Amino acid sequence: MEIAPRLHAVRVLSGYLYLIDEPAMTLIDAGLIGSGRSVRRYASKIGRSLDDLTRIICTHAHPDHVGGVRELAGDRDVEVLMHPADLDGLSVTLRDAVANRNRGQLIAYFTRHPGEATPVADGDLLPMLGGLQVVHTPGHTPGSVCLYAAQQRILFVGDALQVIRGKVTFASSVFSEDIALARASVARMADLDVETIAFAHYPPWRDDANGTLRTLARTAGN
Ligand SMILES: [Zn+2]
Ligand SMILES: [Zn+2]
Repeated sequence: MEIAPRLHAVRVLSGYLYLIDEPAMTLIDAGLIGSGRSVRRYASKIGRSLDDLTRIICTHAHPDHVGGVRELAGDRDVEVLMHPADLDGLSVTLRDAVANRNRGQLIAYFTRHPGEATPVADGDLLPMLGGLQVVHTPGHTPGSVCLYAAQQRILFVGDALQVIRGKVTFASSVFSEDIALARASVARMADLDVETIAFAHYPPWRDDANGTLRTLARTAGN
């Protein structure tokens, strides 16, 4: 579904990823392994092809966000952007490749293309949607980032927030590496002017997004 001009939420196995329908096509997150088919089908519905894919920005390095990178990129020259704190995590967990097929395929991607993942840093302004700002919000993983499209007032949060029983709340305490840090990071989101919160696993949220973020930030230390 088109949630803003040239911006689509694409339904995949794990929830949603986002397709920016500009001449240089960009994806925000890559979903699980197996997401390629859904994305290919969606792209063709709007008259695009994965051949137009130029970049994939990963909000963090969990398998349900980077698993699809390899199949989406194929043999094309697709730039993968990620915060280095999560890239470092990938390179030291090589032994997991034996035990975990998903992670193994991911590592295979990065080891087959050494140095090809482009690091992003807090404050970077990426050239899509009229300027997409990188906001480092560590906690769920060390390298979790949110992406803020100021013109559209959309904040892509990855897994830095979630929705439970119809309410926006902090990142999962089960799946987050440092939940106190994840909660503190919400202050960064509350500083922005947000109309739409775009999640990885829930539909976009438009009900008083600013108020929701500010309330969460206020209760982060509780
Ligand atoms: Zn995650
Ligand atoms: Zn996730």
